[in-house]
Amino acid sequence: MKPALIVHGGAWDIPDEAVETCRAGCRRALEAGWAILSRGGSALDAVEAAIVVLEDDPVFDAGTGSHLNLDGRVELDAIVMDGGTLRAGAVAAVQRIRNPIRLARKVLERCEHMMLVGEGAERFAAEQELEGCEPEELVTEAERLAWTRCRGERHAAAHHRGHQQDTVGAVAMDRDGRLIAGTSTGGTCCKLPGRVGDSPLIGCGCYADAQAGGVSCTGWGEAIMKIVMAKTAADLLRRSTNSAETSGDSAMQAAREAVRVLAERGRGTGGLILLDREGRPGYAFSTPRMAYAYVSTDGSFVTSA
Ligand code: ASP
Repeated sequence: MKPALIVHGGAWDIPDEAVETCRAGCRRALEAGWAILSRGGSALDAVEAAIVVLEDDPVFDAGTGSHLNLDGRVELDAIVMDGGTLRAGAVAAVQRIRNPIRLARKVLERCEHMMLVGEGAERFAAEQELEGCEPEELVTEAERLAWTRCRGERHAAAHHRGHQQDTVGAVAMDRDGRLIAGTSTGGTCCKLPGRVGDSPLIGCGCYADAQAGGVSCTGWGEAIMKIVMAKTAADLLRRSTNSAETSGDSAMQAAREAVRVLAERGRGTGGLILLDREGRPGYAFSTPRMAYAYVSTDGSFVTSA
């Protein structure tokens, strides 16, 4: 198989002044994942590497620099799913993990369960000798300032101007045809402590089935959950790749259709990236912008406008 990779840095109203930073972050993530895939490495390693880059970049709402909850703390969710086995590893509401996607991978590979939350997830991380961090280390000055403004008045996008970015994700296919999808987020600003959105939920913020495709979503979590958006998109991919009229842009059509269902039935906005089972990329969003990057079929890197 020809390897394939697509990443995103969230769908939202990314302001003009932040567009270039988001684009550069997505490109770095793409480079990190592609360096692995192009030398024959695994899709799982590529998804993890790409998402770690995005989690470490404070401009995105994942890992360091995530939005703060009502208590002023970072609370992280992540998932990674294997399209071959349909097994996922997911963690939610963790506060002491710098790279939750690494912990999600440990759950995928070394845990009998598929999802761990809060303190139990952090205990599992320690057992797996995954390096933890102090909660304050995940908080950036920009987010603290935005949170202070949101608390003083009320939550408003304007308080996040310039760094109003979002959830991150990646979908990869390696030379052996293994398909992996992953998503990582700090969730929404001023969320209630303990709130978990779509991102770490199998079928909502992420899904992978090697017989259909792999998907990572972003946007308004409560709406995405209503329509189980990642699984909805995977089902659309399954249908289109099974039908006789499969065309080059069936992946794009499936992505657009999922976003249409999100608007119509979920009454929400958001976006998604995907690879179909042949590794063809697709993306769509209903927000003003979405940050994304992918390797096109001719091998060149394409980044969002
Ligand atoms: N979907 C994420 C959540 O609701 C946030 C986002 O993608 O903007 O937690």
